[in-house]
Amino acid sequence: MLLDNQVVIVTGAASARGIGKATARALAAEGARIVILDLRQADAESAASDLGIGHLGLACDVTDKAACVDAANAAIEKYGRIDALINNAGITQPIKTLEISADNFDAVIGVNLRGTLHMSQAVIPQMKKQQQGSIVCMSSVSAQRGGGIFGGPHYSAAKAGVLGLARAMARELGPDHIRVNSITPGLIQTDITGDKLTPEMRTDIIKGIPLGRLGDAADIANACLFLTSGLSSYLTGVTLDVNGGMLIH
Ligand code: NAD
Repeated sequence: MLLDNQVVIVTGAASARGIGKATARALAAEGARIVILDLRQADAESAASDLGIGHLGLACDVTDKAACVDAANAAIEKYGRIDALINNAGITQPIKTLEISADNFDAVIGVNLRGTLHMSQAVIPQMKKQQQGSIVCMSSVSAQRGGGIFGGPHYSAAKAGVLGLARAMARELGPDHIRVNSITPGLIQTDITGDKLTPEMRTDIIKGIPLGRLGDAADIANACLFLTSGLSSYLTGVTLDVNGGMLIH
């Protein structure tokens, strides 16, 4: 199997139809032990038990640095190592520039960008000790094409920040054999859009996708599997577009 006994932390992985849960499932199927982090302990535990035995579910709000460090320590205590981190936790808000309040900005930057930094900081010391690790950061096509799909400009900014952070960490951590890569999903059918994605919006968006469909969480999970496993051992600092051709550049 591609990830035999490797220990992988996935943030924001309790949402039933979400990218994180699908990723946890795909990686567990390849032999990984998964540490699921999400806001509520009960949700994280139940998502971990859905994967079978030998996985862990913990409450961790990625905006809280101390909680991230505690979660990384709990993973090390249980499994002795951390091979990979999927920085997946994220939120979005479909609002326009003039509507973005300071609270909106802080919330969206806090989870998507600061959370990615916090969780990376929490695992890097262990990965340095191991001289091995892979970090995958979930950005978005909206960082590349200037939004216009669902999230507002502050979401595009946060996800563009994720790309810059990931590339700079890739350069810094390469000498320690820690790879850092990003994924830029197109529109994926999960619950992140709530009930705010109307059938008309959906039809319009599909018109602009050469492959003629929205993405499934499994499409992103497979990309995470590739970037986490040895199949991508010479890739670092890359941005992997998984968008059905919605943006070709
Ligand atoms: P989702 O809403 O289904 O799942 C997000 C998960 O993150 C939830 O389980 C939520 O509880 C958790 N979360 C929220 N705030 C958190 C916090 N502070 N700490 C820990 N966990 C937190 O969303 P999804 O569609 O699966 O999105 C996953 C990632 O993919 C996000 O980063 C999102 O921005 C990104 N993304 C999604 C799409 C899409 O179309 N669905 C497109 C591009 C990028």
